[in-house]
Amino acid sequence: MSELHERHRAVMPSWLALYYDDPMEITSGKGNRVTDAEGNTYLDFFAGILTNMLGYDVAEVREAVERQIARGVVHTSTLYLIRGQVELAEKIARLSGIPDAKVFFTNSGTEANETALLLATYARGTDQVLAMRNSYHGRSFGAVAVTGNTAWKNSSLSPLNVHYLHGTDRDHPAFRGMDDAAYTEACVADLREVLATAVAAGGPAALIAEPVQGVGGFSMAPDGLLAAYKEVLDEYGALFISDEVQTGWGRTGSSFWGIGNHGVVPDALTFAKGLGNGFAVGGVVARGDLMDALPANGLSTFGGNPVSMAAANATLDYVLDHDLQANADRLGRAVLGGLTALSDLPTVGGVRGKGLMFAVDMVDPETGAPAPALAARVLEEARRRGLLIGKGGLRGNVLRMAPPLTLTEDEAHEGRDALVDAVRAVDAAARG
Ligand code: PMP
Repeated sequence: MSELHERHRAVMPSWLALYYDDPMEITSGKGNRVTDAEGNTYLDFFAGILTNMLGYDVAEVREAVERQIARGVVHTSTLYLIRGQVELAEKIARLSGIPDAKVFFTNSGTEANETALLLATYARGTDQVLAMRNSYHGRSFGAVAVTGNTAWKNSSLSPLNVHYLHGTDRDHPAFRGMDDAAYTEACVADLREVLATAVAAGGPAALIAEPVQGVGGFSMAPDGLLAAYKEVLDEYGALFISDEVQTGWGRTGSSFWGIGNHGVVPDALTFAKGLGNGFAVGGVVARGDLMDALPANGLSTFGGNPVSMAAANATLDYVLDHDLQANADRLGRAVLGGLTALSDLPTVGGVRGKGLMFAVDMVDPETGAPAPALAARVLEEARRRGLLIGKGGLRGNVLRMAPPLTLTEDEAHEGRDALVDAVRAVDAAARG
């Protein structure tokens, strides 16, 4: 065990998950690559954790941050007007598609979701909230409460009354053999049953959903399901919160917000991760009436601070100026096309992708059961081939790839080939 790893173990919580048998320390980055303390360079097909959507050491972002620091205003107070906040809020409100939108900035996705839940439950005067099975929304009390993925739900106590909905669990025994239409119908019927309970208990405040479940393993509800949910929710006046922490800013290629793929305009949308290209920034954009309704003062001391705003404005401008959504769409198709061949392997249960989000399910070659140990081995094999990837899923058996949106064509091919090679190596070894 490295000296740093030993010290980490001694003073940091045991549940802080580190990747790799021999966890690495990343000491520098350039373009879409990072270098570790031992001098090994890797192509980053996980973009930090979808945080570095422009990769590393981007001149436009660095210079914007340096200009802000040079003014000596690293942080004053969000009690004063901050130009970068207003400018960024204007851009996000316009991009959101939400009528009369207003924006509140936080430091993380967790806080963004906490804020959205606060807005929705307050506006509706009820603590009844709907969430999706297998979801991940953060690690604060409210965000954990709406997290359905038991692998990441570190407390079952809750400040909210949460009802979980189906939508990304086609493998659930109740739905086996159903096509999309039958599954959608069964899910909507279940929602109506759930709502009957929620109505008796004060009425539903909102549904919070990820357009593509991130930690859950890049799984998506079938076309039309979330739109059908929205229609039913509208009947009850319940709100729709789209958690775009992983799916925003064009990552899914076919839509700027992930929820656009489902044909839904939400009442609130939460974001974080990629927006600061590594700097801590998150927030919620919501209908102005919801945002303005809270009765007392609110403030996030560091949320929307001048340095994060400089990074976020520069990052968002870069995404828009370079049409990175189109890049995600084009290269997403190229990578996915190469990965689909893996689905013939006995240890691969499925391959899917949307823009620059790709998942490969690793399974036991005999039983087809989720195989988290094989997924962990693919991570090690990919590392040996100079490629960083992620993993996730309810059972930890899903390989997750989400490279920076600035990926080049050559890098797309390089990453795809290294991944295919790593999976093939693990598959061959698993079958002895
Ligand atoms: N929502 C989603 C969909 C996420 O993936 C995450 C982080 N993995 C969060 C919320 C929480 O964000 P943060 O870690 O910035 O608090």
